[in-house]
Amino acid sequence: MKALLISGTPITMLCFVIIVAAGCVAVPPASQSVVSKRTQMHMGTLVTVTAVASHKSMGDRAMQAAFDEIKRLERLLSTWRPDSELSHVNAAAGLQPVQVSRETLELVVRSLEMAQLTHGGFNIALGPAIDAWSVTDRQRIPDDEELQRLRSLVDWTSIQINKQTRTIYLPRGGMRIDVGGIGKGYAADRAVEEMKRAGATGGSVALSGDIKTFGLLPDRKGFPVGIRHPREEGVMIAMIDLNDEAISTAGDYERFFERDGVRYHHILDPQTLQPARACQSVTVIAKEGTMADGLDTGIFVLGPEQGMALVESLPGVEAIIIDQEGKITVSSGLRGRLHAP
Ligand code: ADP
Ligand code: MG
Repeated sequence: MKALLISGTPITMLCFVIIVAAGCVAVPPASQSVVSKRTQMHMGTLVTVTAVASHKSMGDRAMQAAFDEIKRLERLLSTWRPDSELSHVNAAAGLQPVQVSRETLELVVRSLEMAQLTHGGFNIALGPAIDAWSVTDRQRIPDDEELQRLRSLVDWTSIQINKQTRTIYLPRGGMRIDVGGIGKGYAADRAVEEMKRAGATGGSVALSGDIKTFGLLPDRKGFPVGIRHPREEGVMIAMIDLNDEAISTAGDYERFFERDGVRYHHILDPQTLQPARACQSVTVIAKEGTMADGLDTGIFVLGPEQGMALVESLPGVEAIIIDQEGKITVSSGLRGRLHAP
């Protein structure tokens, strides 16, 4: 089936964010379940966890289990922490393979699958280029020569994985893995598993725009989530009820600076090592947060046509793509599921 094109919706300035709307508000006791919600800062962002459980103490335990899991993963995966597993892998680039935990290996393997699916649009080897831009810190524009020198260091196909010894090897000195484009979706998946183990019957884990839900809110059809306008802060373009699904958005408004009227943002096109220009935002809905988060970044690079063709070819994956002009395209499986904010 072909994707539905919503044209004539002039989005002048795009700034797309996912907001957990009513889903996080306590729900009256029409049923036996208790809904609890808590927000903490982790992985450099606000993390909001909502738990549905038969009694409050169980909900509290489930929320704590989610936060503990996210903190644990941050210690393994953060490339800002010099002591994380991924930092050790990066420090040993060109020297030797590094043994990692099951989770780190799993995330890197899944990242390479996402790279394959998106024909390299998603690329966890972009670390050196992401550092060169460091969009949020230095706001500098690297010149062509500098970017050209990095080309040989961003080849994701050269990353060597050994599942038997559980090692990762980056074969050239200076290579760096960066899981910023997929790590939050993965963390949301893992945190939800811990909530289920702790006895919650439903819930959501939202690491800013990366949200994974399970079960239902009492007396609701799922977990309502709002999809924000990419250029107008606080304006939502649609709502959707998620049912055992994840949603993730990649947008050029999330981290950016402007110079001479040009927006330089944090999602890079691996071909040019410049900010990707085809989209203003890409929202992906999938069963798993890892898939939704990896795909949103990769599709952002691929652009609306190739990106939507990919979405339509993947079972259980849906998307809302807003191109550079603000034109919104919605995948066929979302027809009838989006409603007005
Ligand atoms: P967030 O949810 O943090 O905004 P996104 O899913 O939008 O994350 O991914 C953006 C982050 O991914 C960047 O900050 C950077 O760390 C990394 N990144 C940038 N370009 C790419 C790319 N082409 N492939 C994979 N990761 C990327
Ligand atoms: Mg992503």
